[in-house]
Amino acid sequence: MSDTLFTKIINREIPAEIIYEDELSLAFKDINPQAPVHFLVIPKKPIATINDIESEDRELIGHLYLVAGTLASEMGFAEDGYRAVMNCNPHGGQTVYHLHLHVLAGKPLGWPPYQDKL
Ligand code: 5GP
Repeated sequence: MSDTLFTKIINREIPAEIIYEDELSLAFKDINPQAPVHFLVIPKKPIATINDIESEDRELIGHLYLVAGTLASEMGFAEDGYRAVMNCNPHGGQTVYHLHLHVLAGKPLGWPPYQDKL
């Protein structure tokens, strides 16, 4: 897949407020936050969408959730709660085609996340 904005963030070609990094993943604040806390956890491996996850990526995807949970504990909102979601393709609202886990927190979050009728 071709480079996206997020590959450029991984490579420090564009700036971002990075809050965590390890050999497999990066976490940084969302530029357009939808909650008092909103950051993204991404794999360094450029996977475009959930549909492109392969069997060999099992541990990597689990790792993204472990990072999200660890950061939630360290940042102090794990007990109050949060949402960790991935959007997929246009109907899911995906705009950047490099897999990312949204972590939203800091207030009670509405559900369902859409307002229109089925
Ligand atoms: P999606 O809509 O694909 O699920 O989420 C993409 C997210 O990336 C959006 O919440 C958007 O605000 C965020 N985003 C897009 N471009 C940038 C950027 O250049 N820097 C950062 N930090 N976030 C970005």
